[in-house]
Amino acid sequence: MSTTALKTVQHVIGGRETAGRSTRTSPIWNPATGEHQAQVLLAEAADVDAAVVAAHEAFGAWGDVSVTRRSRVMFAFRNLVEKHADELARLVSAEHGKVVADAKGEVIRGMEVAEYACGIPQLLKGEYSEQVSTDVDLFSFRQPLGVCAGITPFNFPVMVPMWMHPMAIATGNTFVLKPSERDPSASNFIAELYHEAGLPDGVFNVVHGDRVAVDALLDHPLVAAVSFVGSTPIARYIHERATASGKRVQALGGAKNHAVVMPDADLGFTADHLIAAGYGSAGERCMAISVVVAVGDAAEPLIERLKRKALEIKVGPGLEPDSEMGPVVTPEALARITGYIDRGVEAGAEAVVDGRELEVDGGGFFVGPTLFDRVSTEMDIYTDEIFGPVLGIVRVGSLDEAIDLINANSFANGTAIFTGSGHAAREFQRRIEVGMVGINVPIPVPMAFYSFGGWKSSLFGDVHMHGPEGVRFYTRGKVVTTRWPADAREPSPGDGHLHFPTAV
Ligand code: NAD
Repeated sequence: MSTTALKTVQHVIGGRETAGRSTRTSPIWNPATGEHQAQVLLAEAADVDAAVVAAHEAFGAWGDVSVTRRSRVMFAFRNLVEKHADELARLVSAEHGKVVADAKGEVIRGMEVAEYACGIPQLLKGEYSEQVSTDVDLFSFRQPLGVCAGITPFNFPVMVPMWMHPMAIATGNTFVLKPSERDPSASNFIAELYHEAGLPDGVFNVVHGDRVAVDALLDHPLVAAVSFVGSTPIARYIHERATASGKRVQALGGAKNHAVVMPDADLGFTADHLIAAGYGSAGERCMAISVVVAVGDAAEPLIERLKRKALEIKVGPGLEPDSEMGPVVTPEALARITGYIDRGVEAGAEAVVDGRELEVDGGGFFVGPTLFDRVSTEMDIYTDEIFGPVLGIVRVGSLDEAIDLINANSFANGTAIFTGSGHAAREFQRRIEVGMVGINVPIPVPMAFYSFGGWKSSLFGDVHMHGPEGVRFYTRGKVVTTRWPADAREPSPGDGHLHFPTAV
C-alpha cells in the first residue's frame, strides 16, 4: 500500500492538532493482519519546544485555578473516559493487538487513577502546628512543579499515561505526553476528552516521536519533571540524562516476574491464574508472569495442567469477540520472541508447548502460548525479558531456594506466591526483594490509591507512580513559619538576640 494514502497521526499542541515541523513518520501496524494501517509523525526538537512552551504558558493560569475546580475538571474527564471506554478499547486493540476485553480492562484501571485524582483537595491538605514558639505558628503545603513530561511504552497506551497525567494535572501542573509511536492514537483521543471536560488548552499536550523527541524533552530547560515507563536500558538512560539536567525523574523499567508455586497450593486455581498472567495480552505486560518456580512435588501435576490449558487458549485477532489472546505488536517483536524460543530449545529447555507451531490465517504477528520446562538460570530465556507469551518453569527444592533465586535476579517489578500456608506466604512477603508482591494473586498491580513501582533495575528514582507517591512526585513542599504580633513595637520573647533562634 502506498504510504501517501495512509492516515497520519499528528501532535496535539496548545489544544490543536498540528504537524509542526515534522516530516519523518513511523508505521502503525495492524498486528492482526500485518498491514501498515496508518503512520504517526515523529517530532523534531522544534515541535517538542512548541509543546513545552504551550504547557509553560498554560501553567501560569492552571496553577492558579482553585483545587476545587481542578477536581471538577478531573471528575468530568473521568466520566468521559467511562462513557468512551468501549471506543478507547477498540482503538487500543486495533493498534496494539490485544483483545478488546483486555483493552477495556486497561481503560478502567487508568480511569481509576483519574478517580483518585478527583480527591485532590483532600490529598493536598497540608499540616499546621499552632504555637511552636510563643506567638509563632508553622504550616506546610505542597505546590506544583510546572511542566511535567511523560514518556510511555506501547503495551498500555491508555493506562500507563494515566498513571501520570491525571496526577500531574490535578496537582496543578501542565503536561507533555510522548506516547509510544507503535500505538499513538489513543493519546489524541484522551486529549479530546480533556478538552471536552473543560481543561484549558495547553495543559495537556501530545508530541509523537522517537529518540529525537525524547532527548528534546530530557534536555528542555522548561521541563521540571520526567516520568518514564518502558524497558530497563531506556529507563536507565532517561534517569541519567534527565537528572543530569537537574530534573526530577521517575523511570520504571522492565521485568521478569516469578511466581512461586508451593506443593500445598490449590493447583487448579494456580494453573488458571498462571495461564491468565503468562499469556494475557500475549505476555506483553510488565506484570506478566514469565517464570514459574515450582517447589518440590508441585512441578509435575502443575505442568500437566498448564500444558492442557495453554493448548486451549483461542488465539486470534484482538477485535474478534472469541479471541482470548491476540497477536504481538510488530514484526520485530514477533522475530524477537520466536528467536528466544529457538534459543531456548537449543539451550536444552523442554518445549512442552511450542508457540511457533501455531498458525493463524491473515498474515498477522501471531505466536502461540509457549511453555518451557527445565529452564535454568544461565539460559537467555531466563535472564532476558522476552515480553511475549513464553512461560518458563524452573524447578527448586524449597521455599528458601525459590526466594534466593528471585532475589538474585536484577529485575524486581512484581512477584507472587501460590500456597495454602500463611507461614510460607508471610516468609515470602517479608524476605522477597521485589516492589509488588501477590499472595495467591498473580498480577499484583496495586489499586490507584496505592502506588505502583518495582525495585532494583525495574525502577530508577525513588518515587513510585500514582497514589500518595504520585502526589509527592508532582509537587514540592513548602513550610511557612508565621508570627503576627499584636503590637510590633512591643518586644516578643526571644527578640533582639543574635544567636540562632530556638523556641521560647
Ligand atoms: P521501550 O523502552 O522501547 O519504549 C518506551 C518509550 O521510550 C517509548 O515512548 C519509546 O518511543 C521511547 N524510546 C525507545 N527507544 C528509545 C531511545 N533509544 N531513546 C529514547 N527513547 C526511546 O519500551 P516498549 O517496548 O514500548 O515497552 C515495553 C517495555 O516496557 C518492557 O520492557 C516492559 O517491561 C516495560 N514496561 C514496564 C512497566 C513498569 O511498570 N515497570 C510498565 C509497562 C511496560
